[in-house]
Amino acid sequence: MSQSLIVAKFGGTSVADFDAMNRSADIVLSDANTRLVVLSASAGITNLLVSLAEGQELEQRAYLLDEIRTIQYAIIDRLQAPDVIRQEIDRMLENILMLAEAAALATSAALTDELVSHGELMSTLLFVEILRERQINAEWFDVRKVMRTSDRFGRAEPDVDTLQSLCAAQLAPRISEALVITQGFIGSESKGRTTTLGRGGSDYTAALLGEALHAARVDIWTDVAGIYTTDPRVVPTAKRIEEISFEEAAEMAIFGAKVLHPATLLPAVRSDIPVFVGSSKDPAAGGTRVCNETPNPPLFRALALRRKQTLLTLHSPNMLHAHGFLAEVFAILARHNISVDLVTTSEVNVALTLDTTGSTSSSDSLLTQALLTELSSLCRVEVEENLALVAIIGNNLSKACGVGKEVFGALEPFNLRMICYGASSYNLCFLVPTPDAEEVVRALHQNLFGA
Ligand code: ADP
Ligand code: ASP
Ligand code: MG
Repeated sequence: MSQSLIVAKFGGTSVADFDAMNRSADIVLSDANTRLVVLSASAGITNLLVSLAEGQELEQRAYLLDEIRTIQYAIIDRLQAPDVIRQEIDRMLENILMLAEAAALATSAALTDELVSHGELMSTLLFVEILRERQINAEWFDVRKVMRTSDRFGRAEPDVDTLQSLCAAQLAPRISEALVITQGFIGSESKGRTTTLGRGGSDYTAALLGEALHAARVDIWTDVAGIYTTDPRVVPTAKRIEEISFEEAAEMAIFGAKVLHPATLLPAVRSDIPVFVGSSKDPAAGGTRVCNETPNPPLFRALALRRKQTLLTLHSPNMLHAHGFLAEVFAILARHNISVDLVTTSEVNVALTLDTTGSTSSSDSLLTQALLTELSSLCRVEVEENLALVAIIGNNLSKACGVGKEVFGALEPFNLRMICYGASSYNLCFLVPTPDAEEVVRALHQNLFGA
């Protein structure tokens, strides 16, 4: 593939309506190297589809479908020749209705993925039409032909080798002939059933396709002009980071900075592909460059916030001077397919967090009764919900002096439920009650980054 290929991804707000789609089309057309475009569903559509997939009563189904139709028809109504595309979208809506009826009888993660995939299928159809009306040779491509994943519905993992060979055979030739528009977020497993990469997964799709096609850059166009020192919705005075390393940005994403899906930077790091993050509403405002190394990385780079954290505290007097307790606990968690997020231990207690965010299926809860029963046979188990994880992302944090004072000095009025520091030199993180979380971030941001 061309050495200068750019893969551009546009999120939900960037394809929310006719005007947003046209602004995004302007961005695509402003650089001839942009040959592959990855789109999310129009804003709001995925949430409506997830709701349908949860199984709804007849009236609610009709209401939700109507909401979806209204959003997509508002785009169709502004086209010069809307008839053919309206028929295509109507067929999609019929499919959605049929799948929603099935979900009302019995929900499943596989059915959810099939249903929600229609959001991206529709937005890409509409975007191609907008480009064609602008006389562009644009082609719709079903990403499921190349995005082979595991069958872990709701949070499927890509099979990178298969993706690579399918891209070389099927996608690369298309890109050399037309501007190709494809779907983020969705894929298919080996039997051909539709899967999804987890909420916000379109960023990950763009990076995976960029890697498979040896792109020179992946551009993530969203509703903020880059990556900021923290979520600008929480701290409006947050500052844009002009250049950030893969490691730092990956830590931010993993700890909840929604601007990038947590896995986005894996392919970028593997293949050293720079990522740009900018606002499709204001491309002239510039954005953030994410690359391998940045000059003079600061001690404190950013703050991230992840809500909906579950804390398990395990208490076992047998742990005193005993061997193997932690090994047993982790073996149980592994059998239940749970990866532990944070851990702290004392002589007879272990506290650990499970991150329950990210899956497309809202029913995909990590904390099952079977897990609790098995753990309870070993020790006393306490479960706390409604916690939020605040992470400070930085460089050489575990080697610097005075970090404790700077961080915790600002947090005097707050209850800190658990603190993790020292395992990684890139982060320091702690749990707070969710109602305090935004206040904590604001106080900390003021202290570390100023007003
Ligand atoms: P898209 O639909 O384009 O993928 P998202 O809503 O997933 O957009 O991500 C963009 C949002 O990420 C922003 O509106 C912002 O509120 C949030 N966000 C969280 N942390 C950060 C951060 N550190 N910098 C920029 N945006 C952030
Ligand atoms: N449409 C999907 C979601 O809302 C994927 C994405 O936007 O990246 O989660
Ligand atoms: Mg997103």
